[in-house]
Amino acid sequence: MHSNYMPTGGIEWSQDWDPTTKLSIKVNRHLHAEKTEYQQIDFFESDTYGTFFTLDGLMMVNEKDEFVYHEMITHVAMATHPNIKKVLIIGGGDGGTSREIARYKTIEHIDMVEIDERVVRLCQEYLPVTAGHLEGDERIHLKFTDGFKFVVDTPDNTYDLILVDSTDPIGPGEGLFTREFYSNCYRILNKDGILINQHESPYYEFHVHGMKRAHLRINELFPVVHVYQYHMPTYPSGHWLFGFASKTYDPIKDHDPKRWEALNLTTKYYNSEIHKGAFALPNFVKDKMK
Ligand code: SAM
Repeated sequence: MHSNYMPTGGIEWSQDWDPTTKLSIKVNRHLHAEKTEYQQIDFFESDTYGTFFTLDGLMMVNEKDEFVYHEMITHVAMATHPNIKKVLIIGGGDGGTSREIARYKTIEHIDMVEIDERVVRLCQEYLPVTAGHLEGDERIHLKFTDGFKFVVDTPDNTYDLILVDSTDPIGPGEGLFTREFYSNCYRILNKDGILINQHESPYYEFHVHGMKRAHLRINELFPVVHVYQYHMPTYPSGHWLFGFASKTYDPIKDHDPKRWEALNLTTKYYNSEIHKGAFALPNFVKDKMK
């Protein structure tokens, strides 16, 4: 963290978004700092964003906008594929993705593979909004290991849905953007399985590079490949993407809003119009993906 005392009182936490741009948040308290085998973990308390945590100085989750990311990584696939029962989450140590997926009573089994157990334990302590359910749901199975290794060791045709809720392609998350990782995801998905992946952002150069690489690799493997966008105020540029890759189901042609709406799930960001609209990409994004 770059920390400075702010004229308004409190301490400034900031993250560089590119060499000339940064996000800065006034924090009231630095709640926790810890260096694990994998990364530096920090928790902060702020007025506007509530409690938030960072990994290696990068914003991961805060109480104000976490719903955007966690609803969008989950509900698009669930409103497309009518029969998802077995789910693999890679990363996602804050618990937000498993919280959303566990809202579906029809889901029978969720494996959550997080490399760093301390992320989970600290989120259980400081961020119950995303991690509070983790101990109480028997369908959720926590596995503390590298997601890359986990998919290599998993038998064919095991999951209906894989959600890659990872950090950027640096540090421990790097392996989760490789061709070998995606091809193992393809292999361990059932014949109509879906892969949703953290697809970076089309704006600043570092993320554009990650976005292009992920897109190219997934395109080589899956017959149905789309990218969809969402607005994440505290991630660099606020303009972020998920990848939707599938063996059969198409998120637009097979989108079933009636079935999803009949479930009566209350959501703050996702709805059936957002589902359709999220796949309409600006020209500069389409160009970058060619
Ligand atoms: N929403 C966040 C974002 O896009 O910035 C992601 C949050 S979630 C906390 C990301 C998690 O992925 C972290 O807890 C990190 O420890 C985990 N992770 C990174 N590399 C991993 C790997 N190779 N296997 C499993 N988990 C990994």
